[in-house]
Amino acid sequence: MHLYGRPCEIERLQQIADRHGLSLLFDAAHAFGCRYQGKPIGGNGLCEVFSFHATKVFNTFEGGAVATNDGALAQKVRLLQNFGFQAEDHVIALGINGKMPEINAAMGLVNLEHLDAFIAVNRGHYGVYAQQLKPLKGIRLIDYPASNANNYHYIIIDIDRDDFGASRDQLRDYLRQHNVLARRYFTPGCHRMAPYQDGGPWHLPQTEAVCERLLALPNGTQLSAAMVQHICDLIRQCPRQPSGARQLLEVGL
Ligand SMILES: *Cc1c(COP(=O)(O)O)cnc(C)c1O
Repeated sequence: MHLYGRPCEIERLQQIADRHGLSLLFDAAHAFGCRYQGKPIGGNGLCEVFSFHATKVFNTFEGGAVATNDGALAQKVRLLQNFGFQAEDHVIALGINGKMPEINAAMGLVNLEHLDAFIAVNRGHYGVYAQQLKPLKGIRLIDYPASNANNYHYIIIDIDRDDFGASRDQLRDYLRQHNVLARRYFTPGCHRMAPYQDGGPWHLPQTEAVCERLLALPNGTQLSAAMVQHICDLIRQCPRQPSGARQLLEVGL
């Protein structure tokens, strides 16, 4: 998965897949408009799968796309997205209804014309966040290396509770009290959700750690630079606890 549109280590994953005879599929839901070493995300592995859900940088309200260079896979996907119909009255596979309605496609075509403008706005807001949050101890904005073009859709901060003086959840609650809908993206981890819990016991200490630290801040064209500034002011003003007092509290618990 190209998390937050930051490309995976594509060659290394491909080497591992090749060594073990595995197919490599990428979740590219965050990565529309992103590039890896100059090449647009979409052409790697057996396929890359995009989401065009309304929350994504490019959207068709709902929908998505499978990008592949494998002709046989492309044919199979086309078959399965239309109930497995090979001909008008001939079903040859168990498919689903994965067709994109015209109205969704129309929405996508209109959005496509504005994609560069959306990304420019996102990049501008990212710059304000970066500048404003830089002096704050314990807050690290996830960066987007210039060598890989990004869509700047996700403003993700990593909060070190000890250095910042408040936990991620405390900051989130504070922002929500002030009507800033920051999201814990992603928390809880997938392995803690009911359908996947049973496959455990899972031992995922790194996942657990980042699930407790990351917070997604607002971005997009409905936000002005002044609003971004205001959100950063709120983060700066978030109540902190002197670390000594918090340690005493924890010992007390
Ligand atoms: C949004 C998203 C999906 C799901 O996309 P749908 O279009 O809702 O199926 C999958 N993976 C990631 C990482 C996403 O952000």
